[in-house]
Parts: sequence; C-alpha cells; structure tokens
Amino acid sequence: MTASSNWQQDFNAIADRSPESLLHFLDETLRQQDYLDDLEAQIEIRLRKAKILRDSAAYEQALAELTAADIVAKKALRSDLQAKIILTRGTVKGEMGQVPDAIDDFHAARKLANAEDNKDLELNILNALGVAYLYARNPERAIEYLKQTQSLAQQLGNKERELVALGNIGTALADMNETEASLKAHRQAYALTQALATEQDLNPQSVYQLANICSRLFDLNRLDQAELECNQALEPAEAMGHVRILSGILMTLGKIKFQQGQEAQAMPLLERALSLVGTSTPTISLPLIETLASVYSNLDKSKQAATYWKQAIELQRSLEQRERAALTEELEVRYEVERRDRDIELLQLNAQLREAELKNRDRQLFFAGGLLIASVLLMAALWRGYTDKRKLEAELLSRNSKLEDALNTIQKLASVDSLTGLLNRRAFHDIARQALEHKRRTDTPISLALGDVDKFKQINDSYGHAVGDEVLTEIASRLTNSLRGTDVVVRWGGEEFLCFFPTTDIKAAMALAEKLRLAVNAYPVSTAFGEFNVSITFGLAQVDDDVQDAIRRADKALYDGKHMGGNVCRLEDAPTEKQ
Ligand code: GH3
Ligand code: MG
Ligand code: MG
Repeated sequence: MTASSNWQQDFNAIADRSPESLLHFLDETLRQQDYLDDLEAQIEIRLRKAKILRDSAAYEQALAELTAADIVAKKALRSDLQAKIILTRGTVKGEMGQVPDAIDDFHAARKLANAEDNKDLELNILNALGVAYLYARNPERAIEYLKQTQSLAQQLGNKERELVALGNIGTALADMNETEASLKAHRQAYALTQALATEQDLNPQSVYQLANICSRLFDLNRLDQAELECNQALEPAEAMGHVRILSGILMTLGKIKFQQGQEAQAMPLLERALSLVGTSTPTISLPLIETLASVYSNLDKSKQAATYWKQAIELQRSLEQRERAALTEELEVRYEVERRDRDIELLQLNAQLREAELKNRDRQLFFAGGLLIASVLLMAALWRGYTDKRKLEAELLSRNSKLEDALNTIQKLASVDSLTGLLNRRAFHDIARQALEHKRRTDTPISLALGDVDKFKQINDSYGHAVGDEVLTEIASRLTNSLRGTDVVVRWGGEEFLCFFPTTDIKAAMALAEKLRLAVNAYPVSTAFGEFNVSITFGLAQVDDDVQDAIRRADKALYDGKHMGGNVCRLEDAPTEKQ
C-alpha cells in the first residue's frame, strides 16, 4: 500500500472534524519520513490543507499552502496536479476579490489541463472562467466559457454541471438585457433540475431557477405568468428557509401585485420580504423600499409613504457611495482583464482634453483637467529635458497608467451630467442605438417619457441658481430611485429629464411615469432656503424605429400637459393611420 492511501484512510477516521484538529493531523503527517519521499502525497496533503483553510476564510494561509504544493508539483513533473493547484489558487483569489489574478490563473491552469487531456479538470476550469468573468462584469466573455462548460458537461454526461452552467448563462444574458434569451436558459436549467430530482428531496437549484424565471417574466411584463411561476416556487422556498431566494420571490410577487393595481395585496408581501432581508444590503432592500413607498402613496397613506421615501433616499446615498467605489474597482478590473498592455496616445488625449474643457465648465472637470495639464506639461518638459530616448520611454511608461486613469475620468465625465450624476444626451444616444438594435431583433416595445419640471424658473428667480441646482439634484435622485433596473433616466436639458423604458409598451410606461411623477411630488424638497413643493409634467410616446421622432411626439404631449396645468402624465395622440 502506498503512503498516499494510508494518510487518507487515517484522515477520514479522525473523530474530531474541527479545522484545527484536521490541520494538526495533516501537519503531523507531512513531518513523517515516509511522506518526504512521496511527492504526490505531499501535494495531496497540501491541497487538502488549502481546502480546509479556504473554508475557514484563511485565504492567505491557503495561498501559502498552494505555493508550496506548486513547487513540489513542478519538482515531480506532474503538470496535471499543477493544473489542479493553479485552479484552486485562482478560486481562492477570486474569493478574495482578486478577479483579474484569478482569471490569469484559470487560463494558466487550462493550458496545463489541455496538455494532459484531462476532461474533468477542464470542465472545472471552464466553469471557473465563466463565473469569474461574470464577477468581472463581462457577461459576453462569461457566456463564451459557460457555453463551453455546458457542452463539455453534456459530452461527459455531467447533468449537475450542465444545469449550473445553464443557470449562469441565464444570469449573464440578463446582465446583457437579453431578457427573453435569459428566460429560455433558466427554463432549460429548470427542466434539467426536474429530470434530476428525486422525489423526497427539496432541490435548491430548481427553486432558484424558478425564482429566476419568475423575475425575468416580470421584467418582460408578463405578469400573469410571472405570478404563476412565483407561486410555484414560494412553497418550497418557504420549506427550505433560504432567505435570499424566498425574499426574492416575495419581492417579485409584491411588485406583480403592485403593477396589477392590487396595492393592498402587494403590501404584506413586500413588508415581509423587507423584514427578511433587512436594510444592510441596499441593492436588494432599496427597490423593495421604493415599491413600498409607491404602494403606500397609491393607497393615500402619505405618512407611511413619506417615511419609506426618506428611507429610500438615505439608502440611495449610501449605495451611491459604495457604487462609486465599486465602479472604480470594476473599471480597474475590466481594464486589467482586457488590456494590460494598451498604449495611450498623447495627442488623442490632448484633443479630448480640449474638447472636454470647451464642453464643461464644471469644477470637477477642471480638477481632472488640471491633473491632465500637469501630466501633459510634464511630458513636454521631459521631452525637452531628456535627449536620452530610453530614459524617456521608461518615464512615459510609468506615466501611462496615470494618464489612463485620467482618461477614464474624462470619459466618465463626458457621459455623465456633473450636476445630477445622470447620464447626458451623448451617453443616451449609445443606449438608444443598442436598444433599437435589440428591438429590431426581438420586436419588444420601447417607450419613453420626456419630463419638464413645472414652474422651475420661479425658484431660480426668487432664490438663485444654487437653490435651483439643489432642487434639480433632488429631483434627479427621486427619479433614479423610482426606476426599474432596466430603465434609464437622462438629463435632457436644463430642467428636462428623459426617461427611457426598453422592453416596455406604452401602457406600462404610463404606469411607470405616473410613479415617477408621484415620487417627485411626494413631499417637499428641502434646500438651504427652506422647503419647496415641486412637480413635473411628462409627455409619453412609444418608439417605433426613430427615437428622435418619438422624443418629438413626447415633447408635443408634454406641451399639452403643461396646458392642462402641469403635474400630469400625458400620452401622445393616437398615431394617425399611415398611408
Ligand atoms: P414650465 O416648465 O412649468 O412652463 O415653467 P418653467 O419655469 O419651468 O419653464 P422654463 O423652461 O421657462 O424655465 C426653465 C428654467 O430652468 C430656466 C433656466 O434658468 C433654468 N435652468 C436651466 N438649467 C438650469 C440649471 O442647470 N440650474 C438651474 N438652477 N437652473 C436651470
Ligand atoms: Mg423647460
Ligand atoms: Mg419647466
């Protein structure tokens, strides 16, 4: 019997399964003479140690074990084990949030596994790559690997892996706003869970897929069907006691009831979902609280509504802070993942700076511009100062990353309105183009609402521009807070906001715009000069295949709304029959 099978039997026989006791046993084993010569056993023992450490969130120690194992594997010329080690290392790094490093590891492991023609290992690696790209917010790449995972799992007859891959494909497609395709993937994954299920078992995957199906159907505004699927998932989710899934289902059900105009039924569902998730995760609780606020305002319970609106706004603020941090991180991750060695052309940057300077007189930009001018001047000085080209090249290289950051800032500023943080017209055109392409392929409706703040000039004239700015910022935040994730709100002009609803017909858009109108008017805006009641008028139009034309029609409806005294949502006139 080899030393390797000995330790595994003893390990399995240990009575005290606490991490400390297991680690102690493994350390003792590593010290024994037998194992000093058995390289394979050494590697397996260290991999086992790494797993225990990782499960106890002792990531750094786990990495140290893996490094040791890697050295031994190289010495033993075992590239199959090396691939396994590097895969595990990537997984640990991923859990530590170091996604680009994790991806590098997975690619390296894949090369090694390919050379060995080890299909099971390759399956694990492909899956890891797919999930890592999901985390890196790169759904296109994620899908590429998840599809490979799926087909390899099929080939190997590994149904569990296949269905998990399918579910992840569904998530990636939803990230890309391919809602129909996402729905299909989740349905397929669900069908697989059914084929696998044993009767007495509660299958978390099948409930999870059902919850996803229900949520996608809701996104597609197929409310009756969504309700059916949610109700089917509800009972097993209750039985499993899985808070995340259960609260998700309750929330979608509540939103369905709300959309159907059954506020009284929506209320207890949403309240319960909120009590399950609490407020510590704003990305989950915020949409809940917003919907609750709307429910209460529709029920004319303005006091409760106001309490929820205030809570929503506070949460939104904290979320924005976190999101800003996360956005920076995400940009870094994406940049590192996609291009580590890209060069920035100085001239291009200079031109962009000029353009940005002309376009924005904002202080924020001025600051970023200042940083750029400093870099540009420095480069010019360097250019003159150094005749030694090599020195200059080294200097340029180290400046590159700073310039890259500055360029990112410029690009962000160029698409985001600096007062309200909303997207500006320029960014909207890209979004509109993509949405139209999607519409052409799938024939889903698109609607939009153009809003104009009522009697805004009075505030400016009586209290000054700064107070007007405060009011605009607050209105922008109320609009953003009341939108669904798929919708977009744009600062169209001074006190004009364009709300864009992809995959929404005009009837549903009307309900959404009504919600936005109520949110703006829900309670007074407080500013340095006291509180102001504000309201907004919306004109709505459905997009055919020309967004500009829809905006013109919405503008006309908006004009009609103003003539009715404002604070209304007004639909475009029924289109006349085309000849
Ligand atoms: P109504 O829409 O109800 O017809 O009246 P109004 O008073 O809102 O209409 P109008 O379009 O005449 O006024 C819009 C004002 O918005 C004029 C302009 O001074 C102001 N404005 C535009 N952009 C900004 C901005 O960025 N900040 C501030 N404070 N005011 C702005
Ligand atoms: Mg105006
Ligand atoms: Mg106005």
